[in-house]
Amino acid sequence: MEHHDLLSGLVRLHILHHAAEHPIYGQWMIDELARHGYRLSPGTLYPMLANMERDGYLTSQTERAGRTSRKFYTITQKGRDGLAVARVRLRELKGEAGTE
Ligand SMILES: [Zn+2]
Repeated sequence: MEHHDLLSGLVRLHILHHAAEHPIYGQWMIDELARHGYRLSPGTLYPMLANMERDGYLTSQTERAGRTSRKFYTITQKGRDGLAVARVRLRELKGEAGTE
C-alpha cells in the first residue's frame, strides 16, 4: 500500500468499523478497502488482522466450508471503545484538515 505508515491507522479504523457491523473475513475486507482506494495485499492485511486480534480489538472464529476454512473477525468491546474515541478524533481532524 502506498503511504502505508501514514494510512495504516485509517485502514485499521475502517476494519473496526466494518467488524462492528458484521463479521468480516480477509478477502472481503481487501475488496471493501479497494473500493475506497486502498490497495492492500493479503500479505499486508492478514498480519494486520492478526495484530489487531492480538491487541484485543478483534476476535476471530474459524468456519469450515467444505475443504476450506475461513476466519471471521468480529469487533470486541475494546475495539468499540477505540472506534468511539477515533470517531471524535476524526471529526476534529476533518475540521482542520478537511477540504471544506
Ligand atoms: Zn468501508
